[in-house]
Amino acid sequence: MGKVTGFMEYERLEEGYEPVPARLKNYKEFVIALSADQAKQQGARCMDCGTPFCNNGCPVNNIIPDFNDLVYRGDWQNAITVLHSTNNFPEFTGRICPAPCEAACTLNVNDDAVGIKSIEHAIIDRAWLEGWVKPQPAAVKTGKRVAVVGSGPAGLAAAQQLARVGHEVTVFEKNDRVGGLLRYGIPDFKMEKSHIDRRVQQMEAEGVVFRTGVLVASLGEDSKVTNWAKETVSAEDLKAQFDAVLLCGGAEQSRDLPVPGRDLAGIHFAMEFLPQQNKVNAGDKLKGQLRAEGKHVIVIGGGDTGSDCVGTSNRHGAKSVTQFELMPRPPEEEDRPLTWPYWPYKLRTSSSHEEGCEREFAIATKEFIGEKGKVTGVKTVRVEWQGGKMVEVPGSEQVLKADLVLLAMGFVAPVSPVLEAFGVGKDARGNAKASTEAQGGYATNVDKVFAAGDMRRGQSLVVWAIREGRQAARAVDEYLTGSSVLPR
Ligand SMILES: Cc1cc2nc3c(=O)[nH]c(=O)nc-3n(C[C@H](O)[C@H](O)[C@H](O)COP(=O)(O)OP(=O)(O)OC[C@H]3O[C@@H](n4cnc5c(N)ncnc54)[C@H](O)[C@@H]3O)c2cc1C
Ligand code: SF4
Repeated sequence: MGKVTGFMEYERLEEGYEPVPARLKNYKEFVIALSADQAKQQGARCMDCGTPFCNNGCPVNNIIPDFNDLVYRGDWQNAITVLHSTNNFPEFTGRICPAPCEAACTLNVNDDAVGIKSIEHAIIDRAWLEGWVKPQPAAVKTGKRVAVVGSGPAGLAAAQQLARVGHEVTVFEKNDRVGGLLRYGIPDFKMEKSHIDRRVQQMEAEGVVFRTGVLVASLGEDSKVTNWAKETVSAEDLKAQFDAVLLCGGAEQSRDLPVPGRDLAGIHFAMEFLPQQNKVNAGDKLKGQLRAEGKHVIVIGGGDTGSDCVGTSNRHGAKSVTQFELMPRPPEEEDRPLTWPYWPYKLRTSSSHEEGCEREFAIATKEFIGEKGKVTGVKTVRVEWQGGKMVEVPGSEQVLKADLVLLAMGFVAPVSPVLEAFGVGKDARGNAKASTEAQGGYATNVDKVFAAGDMRRGQSLVVWAIREGRQAARAVDEYLTGSSVLPR
């Protein structure tokens, strides 16, 4: 339980950041993790509250009080065993999870939450450094073959779990490298890609086969999603060759903004812009990379993807970066008695915002203005919310200068042809329809075909994808063998 009086003695410690001018010069991670002593002190703040809401606030149900206590006592090796018992990839979540666990921490009722994410980060980084993270190949093979479509966090977590109980797992990925949005989307400065490579090596040693550059079924001609496939495998072939198929293809269909001028040059989806920089960072030579250098950049969409466009544009050397959000500016502080232990509504300022960005709230885009076929500005209007309805403020139109517009308004649904090729039913939002019930969960309407991650739940978080991958693995294992020792 940490130290009995720790929460009264010690303050919350935030992880440090490299200074802005230094970190803008490259795409490297810039978070300075807690030292062993700092993590120990942070672990000491966990107060054995009796009902650990953090454990429930965490989508993979990390056993947080236990690893806090182990870190406080200096037992790092058992701390990683506890952490790995619920989370296959704490080095991903320890870096990029928004930490709903901390919103739910009991200390957060009237004080600063325990720095759970920073402790998680410290545990897994130490575990890798000490050589404690090793392949865990299955002692007995089942002879059953499972195809996992998509190598994002959902597909990776599922593949690792399934391989560890002895199934022969092949992961199919249309892109040239493994990782899904962890690889192509999330900027390297938030998470360097060597973390994925290290896990891929571990999983290969556990028997997982990765087939990159292979598209399963076929995407629609007009799909605006990353696709570096060199070959195609049909849904029928996959069903014939494997005992079960798990679809973890993500929710890749970006939301568009069909206002006048949308077809002008210089207006792009965030997912055209961000993956290109990931590729360049990986050493690939790209012809005509989309660059923000010397440009007035407008990012439309106030979420994480938008924030990643801001950070990348600043690293390119943009002249100015402005981010639009349709909703009004949230309060700086949450109303804790109202929101705890849930995810609070409050202003979130990311490290990318701190690097330089104008943030405009309650603003809508009316039209893109251009000259000679190229965008030069964005016509906007202020909006108000009345009775849940958006109303334009008369006379508030203005035109802002723009040479590059990045659309980061979220994702609508999975790219549907792959679901159609398997005959998988969709829910009202266009996601693969499957429940998360303990019995029969993650199964679609098609025999032997399962779905998990963003492809099933819609656009979400890495930690939710890991949860779904783990739970779906158990469902597939039960389907193949009649029972499962895998945790849910
Ligand atoms: C720019 C950006 C930043 C984000 N930042 C964060 C963050 O900081 N923290 C956080 O928690 N979440 C973040 N997210 C959300 C998070 O990345 C996703 O929720 C998560 O990656 C979903 O995992 P997944 O495995 O379900 O799908 P994905 O990661 O989308 O992976 C799906 C994979 O399937 C492949 N695929 C799709 N169809 C086929 C096919 N037919 N054949 C073969 N392969 C196929 C795709 O190429 C892709 O590699 C971010 C998302 C974006 C876009
Ligand atoms: S995975 Fe996310 S929610 Fe869970 S303990 Fe880690 S930071 Fe918290």
